[in-house]
Amino acid sequence: MAHVQRMSTTLLKTLRDDPADAETASHKLLVRAGYVRRSSAGVWTWLPLGKKVLDNVSRVVREEMDAIGGQEVLLPALLPKEPYEASGRWEEYGDLLFRLKDRKGADYLLGPTHEEIFTLTVKDQCTSYKDLPVILYQIQTKYRDEARPRSGVLRGREFQMKDSYSFDTTDEGLAESYRLHREAYTRIFERLGLDYRVVSAVSGAMGGSASEEFLAPAAAGEDTFVDCPQCDYAANTEAVTVAVSPSDPAGHGAVEELDTPDTPTIETLAAHLGVPASATLKNLLVKVDGEITAVGVPGDREVDLGKLGEHLAPAVVELVTAEDFADRPDLVRGYVGPQGLKLRYIADPRVAPGTAWITGANKPGTHARNVVCGRDFEVDQYLDVVVVEPGDPCPRCGAGLEIGRAIEIGHIFQLGRKYADAFGLDVLGQNGKPVRVTMGSYGIGVSRAVAALAEQTHDESGLCWPREVAPADVHIVAAGKAVQTELALELADKLGSAGVRVLVDDRTGVSPGVKFTDAELIGIPEILVVGRGAPQGLVELKDRRTGAREELPVAEAIERLSARR
Ligand code: ATP
Ligand code: MG
Repeated sequence: MAHVQRMSTTLLKTLRDDPADAETASHKLLVRAGYVRRSSAGVWTWLPLGKKVLDNVSRVVREEMDAIGGQEVLLPALLPKEPYEASGRWEEYGDLLFRLKDRKGADYLLGPTHEEIFTLTVKDQCTSYKDLPVILYQIQTKYRDEARPRSGVLRGREFQMKDSYSFDTTDEGLAESYRLHREAYTRIFERLGLDYRVVSAVSGAMGGSASEEFLAPAAAGEDTFVDCPQCDYAANTEAVTVAVSPSDPAGHGAVEELDTPDTPTIETLAAHLGVPASATLKNLLVKVDGEITAVGVPGDREVDLGKLGEHLAPAVVELVTAEDFADRPDLVRGYVGPQGLKLRYIADPRVAPGTAWITGANKPGTHARNVVCGRDFEVDQYLDVVVVEPGDPCPRCGAGLEIGRAIEIGHIFQLGRKYADAFGLDVLGQNGKPVRVTMGSYGIGVSRAVAALAEQTHDESGLCWPREVAPADVHIVAAGKAVQTELALELADKLGSAGVRVLVDDRTGVSPGVKFTDAELIGIPEILVVGRGAPQGLVELKDRRTGAREELPVAEAIERLSARR
């Protein structure tokens, strides 16, 4: 009876109270329903029910990866430092990397992702164009020393990832491997029962399809994405671009100074002058690798320092401090304007040539009006640096964008030849000359998908799994009397033999009320109650999601549940 699991012998303790440190529904419910237990910060034990769900997700991933010709391998998680030094990531990863030494003092790391090692594996195994294309994948434990491991298994420091890597000799080949992955991911997330969106992960400059993320909309998500209600545009907020649209600077009057005492902030200035904040130009001072730089954005917009940092990487971006002003009398705090400024000036595309602004006059208590971009000041570099806001225009159709929160569940990426270059990965081409290999890398957060599913499908009573990932098909609850337990076990056996996966609550000394509450919390799609009607051979079938219940004869219940298998 491999398909029957008895609660009386299962390692499973449900909890009435939420864990004290839990903020998200998946964290609370997966712990309370006995699926996972915290071991240390961001490190989790998967208990029997949790392991079943995790395995179900892995099975779906495996089936769809196999279907596109992926070959499963298992690489070590304990890796030597040298390949990561060769790629530059030993340094680049910074504090995110778990580093350790062996007894001889040699440096190792715990793999955060495996591009380097897969490249070396293919270099070792493939010599000719005839050996390619190849798609290799693994489902493996990954390690990242995340700054804020939170939300339970949503962001672990140890977690399960499916990572795959494609190796091709041509750009067209890479595009095809990428397309295959995109389709496999679509099938995987559909089968898992996740609501998801595919969004471009990088801004237009790199080419729209070079990298896409699969996002599962959920309030607990750490990613924000924009969604166009008119067309099919969707993007990570970090990837949204705005075009620079120049206009004629001639139509504006001459620069005029305004006496604006005690108006060091945009709010005080706008109130004093009776203008909207959007008419003013805000100039944020930052240090880029130590050099003071001004960033100009409309006064009603916020600078996204994360975006700015990503645009300027590997340069380090910091906010200026009071000391930085000390030896710069030309910079008047709160009254900085770009006109006549001896600084590198970065601006948001909305600060386009020909636009006129109210901005600081570089004198205490003074602002200037009619300061025109392209006439009174120049922009050294345009970058998308403002926080995207609801209603911003869709870059494709112009409609007002909506913003949502989501969980990144997958990421597909055309890497190109970066790693092949770092490791000299060539194969012999058709003409006998070596060809440099081009790669893609593709990840799915397998353990994160469990949390994402819990986030999207739970209700106020507990978890509510889609059938494909549920730890069982049916949860049989024996109300408590001996005759009921007997019938429940008999039913469990029959269903188990028919291939239905059964969890049967055969516990004695537990009240029916507690059993029903537990069944709701555990979230198996169908609940079969063996209660008062047992002596007459009647049972009650309840749909966990809709709550619909129906009393029916045992034989019919068996038939119906077996048919749904
Ligand atoms: P994030 O931005 O959430 O930190 P990432 O972009 O760094 O993720 P990738 O390197 O793209 O992650 O990894 C592939 C997939 O692995 C991600 O799409 C995500 O689903 C999953 N993943 C990444 N980090 C974690 C983590 N700390 N815990 C659980 N799953 C993770
Ligand atoms: Mg990613």
